[in-house]
Amino acid sequence: QAKRAGRNGVSVYSAGLTDQLLRHMELEVSLRAALPRQEFHLVYQPQVEAATGRICSVEALLRWHHPTRGLVPPTEFIPLAEESDLIDHIGQWVLRTACVQAAIWSRDGRPVRVTVNLSPRQFRQPGLARMILAVLDQTGLAPQLLEVEITEGAVMESTEAARQTLQELQQHGVGIALDDFGTGYSSLAYLTRMPIHNLKIDRCFVNGLMDGGENEAIVRAVLAMAHSLGLRVTAEGVETLDQARTLAALACDLLQGYYFSRPVAAAHVPSLLDRHWALDG
Ligand code: C2E
Ligand code: MG
Ligand code: MG
Ligand code: MG
Repeated sequence: QAKRAGRNGVSVYSAGLTDQLLRHMELEVSLRAALPRQEFHLVYQPQVEAATGRICSVEALLRWHHPTRGLVPPTEFIPLAEESDLIDHIGQWVLRTACVQAAIWSRDGRPVRVTVNLSPRQFRQPGLARMILAVLDQTGLAPQLLEVEITEGAVMESTEAARQTLQELQQHGVGIALDDFGTGYSSLAYLTRMPIHNLKIDRCFVNGLMDGGENEAIVRAVLAMAHSLGLRVTAEGVETLDQARTLAALACDLLQGYYFSRPVAAAHVPSLLDRHWALDG
């Protein structure tokens, strides 16, 4: 692109581009080393059942502690990992670590379902179902205690093979959630074609919920459609009691967001399981 810009007045533009490119390359090099250097860890964010006010599952979220940069957000490094086979290794590490942790909670008498994000590239991997079932087998986690989250975009682009992957996971009892619902495509035909159990309404709709009007109409429509298809609905990004109560009153099934808890280290999860939130009235 710098070449196309020609000889005149190119310096500022190409310097900016070079900086960006350098940062990108440097980050990729350190990302390759992050797994063997054990710079990753998982945090867990509760998902609260609106009807009972209790935690029924936790979402595993990846954190990368870079030796000099500090914490790098997943929105920055996941897309980078997604460009290469790195995501396969990182994704497997996430899955294994989350399953080992959930198996420990289960053995300690505090069973809680764990949900794990799958990137679009992972989702396209042949043998994904076999890999996930093998990890369940090795860690001793009951399949019912695992749910995978895939994005709307990945499902829309997906092939018959991907549908079979989900089918196989479903047959073994693994849950399947559609993440960031409402941000992607407009065709909803895939909802009836794919074995999906849970829709996660993107937090942009929850954000605008209290302004009345459009966002509430969207949330109502999603709930009505999902429930008539037999799906559960999770609201993402619930930050206030008002939002939580409104969503509970609209019969949204699960609530997730800073109002209940930020993502926390595994050690903090058991004490959160004792908590109860009153969402009626
Ligand atoms: P996501 O799967 O939609 O996860 C929810 C994101 O929203 C998390 O950001 C979470 O910390 C944030 N969040 C939760 N509650 C609130 C709230 O009340 N307000 C606001 N403003 N934000 C809230 P996080 O951890 O930074 O992750 C960002 C994205 O990175 C995730 O979005 C997911 O797409 C991706 N990601 C994270 N971990 C993994 C992973 O292990 N594998 C893959 N493939 N992607 C991951
Ligand atoms: Mg997610
Ligand atoms: Mg999401
Ligand atoms: Mg998101």
